[in-house]
Amino acid sequence: MTVPDLLSDSLAPIVDAAREIARTVTAPHAERDDRDARWPAETMEALAAAGLTGLLVPNDAGGLGQGMLGLVAVSEILAAESASTGLCFAMHCVGSAVIAAKATDYQREHYLEPIARGEHLTTLALSEPGSGAFFVYPEVAARRDGDSIEVTGTKSFVTNAGHADSYVISTLPFTGEGEEGQFNCLLLDRDLPGASWDAAWAGFGMRSNDSRTLHLDHVRIPDANLLGDPGDQLWYVFQVIAPYFLMAMAGTYLGVAQAAFDEARAHVGTRRYAHSGELLGAAPVVAHRLGELWTELEATRQLIHSAARKGDAGAPDALTSILACKAAAGDAAVRIANEAMTLCGGAGYRDDGRLTRILRDARASHVMAPTTDMLKTWVGRALLGLPLL
Ligand SMILES: Cc1cc2nc3c(=O)[nH]c(=O)nc-3n(C[C@H](O)[C@H](O)[C@H](O)COP(=O)(O)OP(=O)(O)OC[C@H]3O[C@@H](n4cnc5c(N)ncnc54)[C@H](O)[C@@H]3O)c2cc1C
Repeated sequence: MTVPDLLSDSLAPIVDAAREIARTVTAPHAERDDRDARWPAETMEALAAAGLTGLLVPNDAGGLGQGMLGLVAVSEILAAESASTGLCFAMHCVGSAVIAAKATDYQREHYLEPIARGEHLTTLALSEPGSGAFFVYPEVAARRDGDSIEVTGTKSFVTNAGHADSYVISTLPFTGEGEEGQFNCLLLDRDLPGASWDAAWAGFGMRSNDSRTLHLDHVRIPDANLLGDPGDQLWYVFQVIAPYFLMAMAGTYLGVAQAAFDEARAHVGTRRYAHSGELLGAAPVVAHRLGELWTELEATRQLIHSAARKGDAGAPDALTSILACKAAAGDAAVRIANEAMTLCGGAGYRDDGRLTRILRDARASHVMAPTTDMLKTWVGRALLGLPLL
């Protein structure tokens, strides 16, 4: 069992639908999408048609009303076939959770309800070239002008670039309003005048998430697209963005770890030597190593599922567990992919092999902010009662 074993009545059919899409749509396209750095259009369309892109949209806006456990489960299932596809879906879901957190009637009608109907994709565009891994320090400038907000600056590494209909962006406080260190979240519609994209980033891994740099040159965003109130950033970061993003990435990299483990188990469980007739996995050291990998995978899964359940229940200590999850999933994905590469021998060490793609994808976990080192430091600070930032 690779997804929560005690599924709620509402989550079980969602997981079944995700598994079917992963098997019939994601898996057959994964290798080509990686090779050609091609955005996973077929899977995203299938998810929308099945209503799964409304995973985190509340029931009263027509969505599936799921929380972190649902996000982890579906991200894991997709990422086990294609990590990039898991990432594209996950970033859409995190964006929709941010919109839903304090949606106005207008935002509900124009964004959440279309997302629930499978007619609208969104994504998160927080990172900037200047602040890099420190995504909570945006430099995009914003100023009010009549009933619009004019924004200028650059966002980097935007997943689903050009494919999403809207982008959750962060900006400095509006000129003349707010204090240093604060920021606002706005919802940017695609193709507004003044917005332009660089060419797609050609990554070592996560090659088909279509990650691009977005330039904003005096782009006018309607006032109605301000998320929450000006200066709401601390609330958004710690209540919505960080928890949902971290659990989305934890689920995604858990899927990568599972895929690597499956490759190793399949190889050592079927490879037989002609000279002895022995199964590779029968060698004690090989069975021992496989057992170690399974233990790490399962321990990571239990940590993630427990954190997701705590997050969904609003447990007071949920954030510490949630902070640990992405780091643990990243460590597990990289280590299990590395070890699987050794266990699979020459069959795994092929330039065009599935395991090679899995290892390249796993490496992105340590680069994506908040990075593994930062998260472990934050867990320690949270345990000591120190401020995270
Ligand atoms: C595949 C992929 C998809 C992405 N998708 C999105 C997206 O959809 N939306 C989005 O907003 N962003 C996205 N990002 C951006 C990402 O989250 C990071 O912000 C970005 O990769 C890091 O920026 P940088 O390269 O400038 O790193 P730098 O800031 O230059 O950091 C370099 C390295 O140093 C480490 N480092 C820095 N300071 C410290 C410290 N104090 N202690 C320990 N280590 C430190 C960093 O962790 C990093 O590994 C994506 C990135 C990747 C790789």
